[in-house]
Amino acid sequence: MKDSVKSWIFQPEIEKMSRNKRVKLQEKRLRKIVKHCYERVPLYRKKFEKAGITPDDIKTIEDLKKIPFTEKEDLRKAYPFGMLAVNLNEVLELHASSGTTGHPTTCAYTRNDLKVWSKVMARIYASAGTERGDIVQNAYGYGLFTGGLGFHYGALEIGAAVLPIATGGTERQIRLAKEFGTTILACTPSYAAHLGRYAKEKLGIDPAKELKWKSGLFGAEAWSEKLRERIEELLGLEAFDIYGLSEVIGPGVSVECPEHNGLHIQEDHFLAEVIDPKTGEAVEEGETGELVLTTLTREATPVLRFRTGDITFLKTEECSCGRTLSRMGRILGRADDMLKVRGVKFWPKTVEHALLNIEGVSENYEITIERPQELDIMTLRVEPEKELFESVKGDLTKLQGLVKEITEQIKSVVGVKAHVELVPYGSLPRFMGKAKRVKDLRKTL
Ligand SMILES: [Zn+2]
Repeated sequence: MKDSVKSWIFQPEIEKMSRNKRVKLQEKRLRKIVKHCYERVPLYRKKFEKAGITPDDIKTIEDLKKIPFTEKEDLRKAYPFGMLAVNLNEVLELHASSGTTGHPTTCAYTRNDLKVWSKVMARIYASAGTERGDIVQNAYGYGLFTGGLGFHYGALEIGAAVLPIATGGTERQIRLAKEFGTTILACTPSYAAHLGRYAKEKLGIDPAKELKWKSGLFGAEAWSEKLRERIEELLGLEAFDIYGLSEVIGPGVSVECPEHNGLHIQEDHFLAEVIDPKTGEAVEEGETGELVLTTLTREATPVLRFRTGDITFLKTEECSCGRTLSRMGRILGRADDMLKVRGVKFWPKTVEHALLNIEGVSENYEITIERPQELDIMTLRVEPEKELFESVKGDLTKLQGLVKEITEQIKSVVGVKAHVELVPYGSLPRFMGKAKRVKDLRKTL
């Protein structure tokens, strides 16, 4: 990694605001958004009536827990415009999330929503040291996925130049990075790793030495600390974890500061809670649970207590960066991504962390879980590093020692015995967007 980037605070008057003052601001906004939702969205009115409450019952943050949760399913059922809290003629931008299971969900933005989105994204860029004069290589997908445009607007707000290259075209990504001298990289972490490998192996370009990337804004996936180390080394940049989701705003909910010890939440716009996903009760600060978000300023498609499905924890302790905004831990995974193999529960990210601890192992792996009879069988397909693969001339039988080491490491860190298979370098899929590394074949039975 190069020297730390020159991180700065985009809106210090808000990001460093005293906690008391911010709570007052949040409560004022909460009362307003609750009223807005109740008056404009039939679903919220119904939920409130069922819970026996009216907007007058919600005055403080403490009252928030009286409001019923909003689930992804609520948004699906309301498709296309049932959740819209403004007239359609006030909407400037519409997005639809992918509808792989059932209806998609609609995310709409008024002019003010787009302003807020630009501001929170600018805070994220500033945290990663982006300034006027930087060139942002935006390799998130443009289109209905909110990643591309969110990163686009934020860069404009900062006054940086954007290269709207979007996902894919890996060779072109590297060539343009070199020719234009792009300084900030925005994409998924798995694609960042792929870009680095591709540059080195296919084009003979060492990104850490020959490209000007100083920081990377990586999100849309749960990724491990070990993968961060690899990406930083490979690309010669400082990697920042970012978090967001289209139902709430898109990217822009939270970002790491130079401490890299949790992600500061833009609390003046998004109110965060962490609950026990089973009981719906709040967990203690620092305890892990499901993240629930309320949009405090969203006009077009506001959400009250939206269950994100993402697992994390919250901490309010002060941060040395000067921001007073609470932090959330890096996402462990989605509640429904947690694996249970032979009774042992773990996150795919834990497997990744264990794997990347081993020298000679690349970040390309695939977890398959089957249940041919009564017992679960976990198979871990792993590509060795290219140099190692070539040093044995592709003869993987010579790497039995590595297989043994991986098996032992997984058993000790994850607690499950995996059947480890080394596969030729380059044989597993590469991902431009969100990586899909787990195949749970039990679910299809
Ligand atoms: Zn901080």
